[in-house]
Amino acid sequence: MKLLRYGAPGAEKPGLLAADGTIRDLSGTVNDLAGSWLTPDGLARIAALDPASLPVVEGPVRFGPCVAGVGKFICVGLNYADHAAESGAKVPDEPIIFMKATSAITGPNDPVIIPRGSEKTDWEVELGIVIGKTARYVTEADALDHVAGYCVINDVSERAFQTERGGQWTKGKSADSFGPIGPWLVTRDEVADPQKLKMWLSVDGVMRQNGSTETMVFGVKTLVSYISQFMSLQPGDVISTGTPPGVGMGIKPTPVYLRPGQEIRLGIEGLGEQTQTTVAAD
Ligand code: ZN
Repeated sequence: MKLLRYGAPGAEKPGLLAADGTIRDLSGTVNDLAGSWLTPDGLARIAALDPASLPVVEGPVRFGPCVAGVGKFICVGLNYADHAAESGAKVPDEPIIFMKATSAITGPNDPVIIPRGSEKTDWEVELGIVIGKTARYVTEADALDHVAGYCVINDVSERAFQTERGGQWTKGKSADSFGPIGPWLVTRDEVADPQKLKMWLSVDGVMRQNGSTETMVFGVKTLVSYISQFMSLQPGDVISTGTPPGVGMGIKPTPVYLRPGQEIRLGIEGLGEQTQTTVAAD
């Protein structure tokens, strides 16, 4: 299933993308795509509905983030060997994880707001994992049983805030609008192999990232298992799994960063596309 949330920011309703391309309203049954609705039981109840029996949502609609009630937004750093190289960093021995503020979460096509004082706002197309079942000390063999599905994430980053202002990476990852998620939460059954997905990102029509989840250092199973050794993961938690090469920071000889009025487009095979326009913070 391709599950989604549509409507005004903060007032989104749950829906699904039917096989005929229409958006169908789930709000008669589902209060939101959060918590228990993301569990195997919840998703089975949604799957049992006949899409043809659900009201059609007339477009155009604004897509909200495809998951609500995100308790933790966990990101993985330097998880593609070629991105580590362009960042001048070595491939980590263990996954690097950091947190992104959940207040950064926005819809997939909402504007990206360049923060006050920013000169180094950058892009990162990433495969997102949405947790569907509490994971605590899970093995790699069992890890995928805890995944509800996958989505596209732009892990928007401010490099100066991230690396030149002291402390950890959180400051450079957490500004409002730095976490577009969606358009769809694609349930796990529709993704045959999460390590074989093409992914891409362009800025003003110039292709900047063109990679595949094949070159991840630590794959989905490993990441879910690994993170669950340090904290429990709950339904609705999101893990952003790192970016392939081609970020602005890595462009030689001079890095390229975002400025207001640009258009970012990104997508992952089977998971949909996002389009964002950059604007200056007011
Ligand atoms: Zn990232």
